[in-house]
Amino acid sequence: MTEKKMKFSISEEKRQILLVEDDIINREMLKESIGNAYELIVAETGEEALRIVRERFETLSIVLLDLNLPGIKGIEVLRRIKSDPAYAGLPVIVMTSDSEAEVECLTLGAIDFIPKPYPPSEVILARILRTVELYEDKNTIRWTERDHLTGLYNKEFFYHYADQLDLYHKDVPTDAIVVDINHFHTVNDRYGKAYGDKVLKCIAGNALRLINEAGGVVCRCEPDMFLFYCPHRSDYEEMLNQLSIVPKGGDSGENHVRLRMGVYSDVDKTLYVDRRFDRAKLAADSVKGNLANPIGFYDNSMHDAEVMEEQLIDDFPTAIKEKQFVVFYQPKFDVRGDTPVLCSAEALARWKHPKLGMVSPGVFIPLFEKNGLIQTLDRCVWSEAAAQIRDWKERFGVSVPISVNVSRVDLYDPKLIDKLLDMTEKNGLKPDELLLEITESAYTENAGMIVENVKQLRKLGFKIEMDDFGSGYSSLSMLSALPIDALKLDMQFIRSAFRERKDTRLLEAMINLSHSFDVPTIAEGVESAEQVSVLKAMGCDIVQGYYFSRPVPANEFEKFVAEKKEISACS
Ligand code: C2E
Ligand code: CA
Ligand code: CA
Repeated sequence: MTEKKMKFSISEEKRQILLVEDDIINREMLKESIGNAYELIVAETGEEALRIVRERFETLSIVLLDLNLPGIKGIEVLRRIKSDPAYAGLPVIVMTSDSEAEVECLTLGAIDFIPKPYPPSEVILARILRTVELYEDKNTIRWTERDHLTGLYNKEFFYHYADQLDLYHKDVPTDAIVVDINHFHTVNDRYGKAYGDKVLKCIAGNALRLINEAGGVVCRCEPDMFLFYCPHRSDYEEMLNQLSIVPKGGDSGENHVRLRMGVYSDVDKTLYVDRRFDRAKLAADSVKGNLANPIGFYDNSMHDAEVMEEQLIDDFPTAIKEKQFVVFYQPKFDVRGDTPVLCSAEALARWKHPKLGMVSPGVFIPLFEKNGLIQTLDRCVWSEAAAQIRDWKERFGVSVPISVNVSRVDLYDPKLIDKLLDMTEKNGLKPDELLLEITESAYTENAGMIVENVKQLRKLGFKIEMDDFGSGYSSLSMLSALPIDALKLDMQFIRSAFRERKDTRLLEAMINLSHSFDVPTIAEGVESAEQVSVLKAMGCDIVQGYYFSRPVPANEFEKFVAEKKEISACS
């Protein structure tokens, strides 16, 4: 593919001309005139001409087109060539004795004319050469439209051509399809980059064959991702099978390359092209890791979720301004002694949306983490929590530390430490009254940088709780190097330990692990008295969950603060 394209710079090779002419005498005359300088491919009918253009447009330099053909007329051949973005750039010189046809041909995109009867061969040759040179210049520019490894279009031109296709085929139902290679980096790591490149080229070749048959256009938009824009079809499985035929890698001689596909079928053409492919990508992501079913379809539920997300993003600034986000508090109890003692609270954001009612953080937090809005929201929650600690301290005379969630996005903020210090100082708090919950997976993502930040925070006196522990992939050696003050077990451990066939071994192992690092364990999602007593028996230090209380508004939480005040007054 790459070599073919580069032929424009290989001067020894004869350029190919497609000569479309049904009249044998005219054909022979032209062969006589230009046959030495060019490689002539002859078509005697319009149908044949279109077939050759389809199959060989990559190597053709020019088309010489007689208008007066049997079957499909020359003018129609011209129209079809020029209306297909894949070949529209191919120069066509029209040969005609009808000077009136010239205007129409020019409008349709013919580049030049050779009148009939034919002028002397030098004139014909000169005209062809001039056109070919012009076209080649254009093609050198076009080269930048392509991905150098596979020769497929790059994303920008792909979108451009998709737009063109729409222009000419408005009413043809069309699909946007994304094809992604699962874990391509591991293919590269295990079998080498050369094999990885071979796989990519092979998939690109398969893709081109498919597109040449079915029409449409394809590109490679990311190292391991291909986009297709093609007439609506229903044989996606077959398509994926054809694309997946790649050379085998490694000593085992097996094919380790797995593709997944996302289909946005019969696209809404009023959407921007990139939005259509966002939808196809959403569909592809919905089958991530699903080896049994590697094809995902964009459907109504994804559409509804997308509309909802857009609305939430639009509504965010007003929500902040109008204080629609409220902070709920859920108590954490120290269960080591005979009676549980309130030791802190977790601040959890809630959105009182004027139209949608109470929106769960499970919906908006992941969304805001994706687009960075989480930083603004977290700052509000932290500052509210800090003010709340002070307020309770002032009114009840006891300090109830509050833990806030620190998203992985916050950890990339160079001003994070200043912001936190500012909040504690403003409210006259010691840093250890504002606890910071950092999810385990944040540590595994960019360990070096995050460990550094966390070390700094601890040096200043902040206490760090590792949230969702056990859900990420920290290695044991990494864990022992992590600077933390408490481990908060992922809720899943409690769930699995207390399923129908109770098996608490893993839970116990996690608690022991936590103690071996000399940090207290917090269990969250604890819902029953039985769970509390089992956890206690295993040596779990702190418990949080519906058993004690759901997350509640600040005023409702005050009963726990008041209780704590009484207890501290008695002791
Ligand atoms: P998380 O930090 O793991 O918080 C614990 C979640 O478990 C909370 O859900 C809490 O309401 C729920 N929960 C507590 N006890 C129980 C129980 O006994 N049973 C059950 N089934 N659930 C229980 P919530 O409030 O919906 O928050 C979900 C997640 O959203 C949080 O998970 C946290 O990752 C995130 N989040 C919430 N608020 C904030 C915030 O202000 N900032 C950031 N960055 N993330 C937040
Ligand atoms: Ca948390
Ligand atoms: Ca958690």
